[in-house]
Amino acid sequence: MKVVSLASGSSGNSLLVRCGETTVLVDCGLPARSMEAGLASFRVNPRSVDAILITHEHSDHIRSAGVMSRRYGIPLVVNSLTMETARDYLGRVDWREHTTGNSRTIGEAEVASFPVPHDATSTVGYVIAHRGHVLCVVTDVGTITNEVLSAVENADLVVLEANHDVDMLKNGPYPAFLKKRILSDRGHLSNESAAQAVCSLDRIKQRWVWLAHLSETNNAPSLARKSVVAALDQYGIANVCVEVAKRDRPSLAWDSDLAYCQLALPGASPQSQEPQLGRR
Ligand SMILES: [Zn+2]
Ligand SMILES: [Zn+2]
Repeated sequence: MKVVSLASGSSGNSLLVRCGETTVLVDCGLPARSMEAGLASFRVNPRSVDAILITHEHSDHIRSAGVMSRRYGIPLVVNSLTMETARDYLGRVDWREHTTGNSRTIGEAEVASFPVPHDATSTVGYVIAHRGHVLCVVTDVGTITNEVLSAVENADLVVLEANHDVDMLKNGPYPAFLKKRILSDRGHLSNESAAQAVCSLDRIKQRWVWLAHLSETNNAPSLARKSVVAALDQYGIANVCVEVAKRDRPSLAWDSDLAYCQLALPGASPQSQEPQLGRR
């Protein structure tokens, strides 16, 4: 399994996942031109993408989903409530209903969704498995529920939201209603809550965690990473490798066949540039 973060933040989200000969995108929230450029930089022909998995209808997750679907004949996989809400925005598209909680096979990939608390109609996260390797994607999540924890439990790579630092948000420029919305159980996940979630996982297997969907205003990559690494250190947990996905460009890649922490991409942080096993 190969996974690339094409972008992760309020201006656009998309994750490229390759399972053998099967390619899927989780969300398609960048403008079409950026999606095409991102795929081209990894030599992925958009026509070879087998499905676009949709998490929810916010525009940073579906911005070009309709256009890409029509232009390249890529079916959307989405639950019916989200489809109903997003239908006008997406336009006429080929879509497959995926009932939340169900599993399906897409080519070589096993895909399951699970419910996620967020202020959209019916937000989901995804678990994607291929030949014993498991990816879990959970961004735009107000609070960590038991369902989220059990989805994350078996994952080798977890793409987890670390949206804001609570103090930065509370003391920052956002209007009160927006702060309240973000801090609510159906809003976005704080660095502290992301750290708690990571620390609650078992210590048996080596895991990789990509902190994702960081706020530009209320967080900083170094702060998000520091919060999680400090919590791991406090609990003496040494089997988790933490990286931060960039908001606006491809930044992290993971390959289940290669025994190293992260394959850094151009523009990624200097700490990611040397492949290292098990480092945090
Ligand atoms: Zn979002
Ligand atoms: Zn959202």
